[in-house]
Amino acid sequence: MQTYLLRTGVLASLLGLIGLAPIACAAADYTHFSWEEVAPGVHFGTPLANFFQGGNVTIITLPGGGSMVVDTQNSEFLGREILEKAKAVGQGPVKYVVNTHLHQDHMGGNIVFRRDNPRLKIFAHRYTCTNAPFKTVNRMEDRLPGIVKGLQDTRAQRVKLQSEGKDLAGIDHRIHGTELYVADTKEFKWEMPDNCLDLKPGQSKVLQEGGRRIELRYFGPGHTVGDLVVFLPKEKVVIVGDMWGQGSGYLHPDAGIDGRDGSVLETPWTLKRLRQLDFDIALTGHAGALRGKASIDRAIDLGDQAIASIKALNQRGMSIGPVLQKLPPPDKAPTFVVDGWVSTVVRTFEEIELRRMWGIPLPGESTPKR
Ligand SMILES: [Zn+2]
Repeated sequence: MQTYLLRTGVLASLLGLIGLAPIACAAADYTHFSWEEVAPGVHFGTPLANFFQGGNVTIITLPGGGSMVVDTQNSEFLGREILEKAKAVGQGPVKYVVNTHLHQDHMGGNIVFRRDNPRLKIFAHRYTCTNAPFKTVNRMEDRLPGIVKGLQDTRAQRVKLQSEGKDLAGIDHRIHGTELYVADTKEFKWEMPDNCLDLKPGQSKVLQEGGRRIELRYFGPGHTVGDLVVFLPKEKVVIVGDMWGQGSGYLHPDAGIDGRDGSVLETPWTLKRLRQLDFDIALTGHAGALRGKASIDRAIDLGDQAIASIKALNQRGMSIGPVLQKLPPPDKAPTFVVDGWVSTVVRTFEEIELRRMWGIPLPGESTPKR
């Protein structure tokens, strides 16, 4: 178990820039999540409008009291809001946390649950455990200047709205949430998973708590190399992190596949294995609760099609510049979508190019049993 402190030099100057004193926020006057019980004892939290955190969270109650939390979001004050909800619906301590993958918005609130219950078990795939200290910790600091800039811009926008006599409730909520987030980062501490699962594709770890069966499953590389899936076979609910349905729609506007810290080429094949689970509801990290399998089918189809297009252009000897001209990002997309789109296409192209260079078959080319 290791704790990582945010480097504070840059942060101190940022906080000074926007006039925020570092505080340990109770955030009693701020609510981030709206909750829906999607199956008995399965509570799905989705964020109200904001611009510092767009991820979802799931609480699974346990028959003997207590609960499991899947993905703890990106800060302590959000972790505390989730903890409060979990204790209310679970009528006991949070016994388990699962981090579906290593990104900050999925494990940044871990410390809150550890402090509340020293016997807590935090599960993740072993690749999440090994890679998070090197991939995730610094990124949090890297994205802070953009959030601070966004806060300044929104404050300016508020002045304009106020002068026009517009309703300020929505923008005030967004500003307040971001202020709390930025202030929270001053004392932020990472808490890494302590139950690191060495699962190969197709393997799982089962937790049986009374009548509640919880399966922690691994299907292979996708959004990251260590995407862990939480499956409730009785309730037919699966919690999939960011494996598809990214709100930004990388690779195709409706696919939401990016292979950001995993593999774009492998993602459709990983999803095809996941799809074999008998589920009615998929709880995603950013796309809400998806009923049925239409969404995963579409992600697989669109992913396959986009990869096939890039593969065909690569086979014609095209370099990445012309490939991007053939597969441009959606019209009028915001900068972060354009950047993510471009990096996803580049990553796909590079994965294809490297395999071609070394004569390694692409997924599906020589392993029909995948
Ligand atoms: Zn992610």
